Amino acid sequence: MRNKLFRGTPASPGICIARVVPYIAVMPERLVKTENRKQKTEDKTLYEIERFKNAIEMTEQELISIRKGFLSRTDNHHASMLDIQLLALRDKTIMDGTIELIKKEKRTADSAFRKVVKKTLSNIPRIIDDYIRQRLDDIKDVSRRIMRNLKEQKIESIVAMEKNDHIVIAHDITPSESAQFANRKVVGFATNLGSENSHTSIMARALEIPAVVGLRNIWKSVKSGELAIIDGNNGVVIIDPDESTLRAYRRKEKEIEKHQRNLESMAKLPCVTLDGNAIELAANIEMPFEIKTAIAHGAKGIGLMRTEFLYLKEDRFPSENEQYEVYRDIAEVIAPESLIIRTLDIGGDKLLHTDEMVDANPFLGWRGIRFSLSEKGIFKEQLRAILRANVRKNIKILFPMITDVKEVISAKKILKRVKEELETEGISDDFNIEVGVMIEVPSASLSAKAIAKEVDFLSIGSNDLTQYVLACDRTNRRLADLYNSLHPTILKLISETVDAGHKEHKWVGLCGELAHNPLTIPILIGFGIDELSVSPLYLTKVKKIIRNISMEEAQWLAREILVCNTLTEVEKFLEKKVLTEFSVIREMVERSAL
Ligand code: PEP
Ligand code: MG
Repeated sequence: MRNKLFRGTPASPGICIARVVPYIAVMPERLVKTENRKQKTEDKTLYEIERFKNAIEMTEQELISIRKGFLSRTDNHHASMLDIQLLALRDKTIMDGTIELIKKEKRTADSAFRKVVKKTLSNIPRIIDDYIRQRLDDIKDVSRRIMRNLKEQKIESIVAMEKNDHIVIAHDITPSESAQFANRKVVGFATNLGSENSHTSIMARALEIPAVVGLRNIWKSVKSGELAIIDGNNGVVIIDPDESTLRAYRRKEKEIEKHQRNLESMAKLPCVTLDGNAIELAANIEMPFEIKTAIAHGAKGIGLMRTEFLYLKEDRFPSENEQYEVYRDIAEVIAPESLIIRTLDIGGDKLLHTDEMVDANPFLGWRGIRFSLSEKGIFKEQLRAILRANVRKNIKILFPMITDVKEVISAKKILKRVKEELETEGISDDFNIEVGVMIEVPSASLSAKAIAKEVDFLSIGSNDLTQYVLACDRTNRRLADLYNSLHPTILKLISETVDAGHKEHKWVGLCGELAHNPLTIPILIGFGIDELSVSPLYLTKVKKIIRNISMEEAQWLAREILVCNTLTEVEKFLEKKVLTEFSVIREMVERSAL
């Protein structure tokens, strides 16, 4: 059947048309919990077989490229030594034996392969003959390579093998996996799981590739190499489109490009309202390479640099020096504008792959500042790197997941100790650095005044604030309708947080996804928000809206919306008083639904 249509949640805007990556069977261990056991076992077996075949394929590619390298430096005779390994790789006893064991004994690919290799090696007669010994070494060598590829096999290593642009369709993609799509030929992705504000979606926006998540059953319904369209604006994926659908989408793709070019003229203009009130418009970045896009789109500084991805990318903690170099380079490029570095916000859906990190309720567990305060060594290393990198004096520190002023005081104490240590080591004694906290938990918002006394600025994280106020996991696709940052209680908390910060003469920013919603931009400005920080992709759109409204209008809207008591009232108000009244906002909403 042609034109198979799937509807999900738009995660990252844009349209892409490409073939589906042949390795759609990439399936994380955590399968959908509600699937029945038999189904689960069958899927698992298929997954392990696929994983094993992928590892063989990857090993083959590696050996071929080593052979090529060899050939360019030595002669054919030497290079042909690798042919023996290539032959050993496709050895039928090992290949078939492993697949058989995965099926029969329900073993993982690693365990089945290990058992088959052990048996094969023990069957070879123990003749002390040079020739046989070398063959044994070849088998051992190639087996080690396969084993390593089995262990390291993740989505990124699989997609890296692709030569042409392609779309990844998976059951789920973790933020660390999507982090590794950078510079690969992945032009879009679609997943069964996920929601608009899950970190995987945020990552897709960072990479500027269209994505749709929460598609429920897409992963099992596509075949390798099928042509697919991802419409990231409308949350639609079409598999095997017919000619007229393809033509229509190619037209849409061109229109979006044209609109984008139009917006680009905004980049160099100041971010001021019609009546001349300046609003700081900064960029959120997850990966160092995004700094270029942020600047090209006119960012006035980096309002939020998430540092988890530096950690998640490698599945290990980066050293102080590695971090120092990344922070220093970004600070240098963005100077004299500021760079706000958020300390590690690991936990929640940004998990490290270690056993200790697995909480029963990750979003209510050991994440953000809680992790940093108990893993002081890791925290201090990051703070040292930040302080050392502050050569241009434009870095600010931001602490995530603060629930109480006590945590702010503890974090500041550690920061003070780190400064003293660096001073003793003679590294520097000039450590004037501004410190701010994320207001993303209801308790922090309600005690914002006390917290503001302790810091230089507040940054509202509407993504987490929404999930904690509404008791609604931001990654749960079943709750996608419930997870709504427009809820009147959230708007009230935002407005009160701004007032609390201002009473203490501290500036207040907002760096959650709400900051780029065309309907809420005037409301936030009207609340008195000093800074908005958004993904580089949205900078020009947000600026165009700000430049077309007056502070007076924004303040009126902000006052009126706070009178709404229900979500429906808020939505009606936005429709009547914002969407209908402001043509620039209507244009942005319509464009994003192209
Ligand atoms: C937020 O919670 O709104 C935020 C900006 O932080 P993150 O999305 O990284 O949790
Ligand atoms: Mg957050």
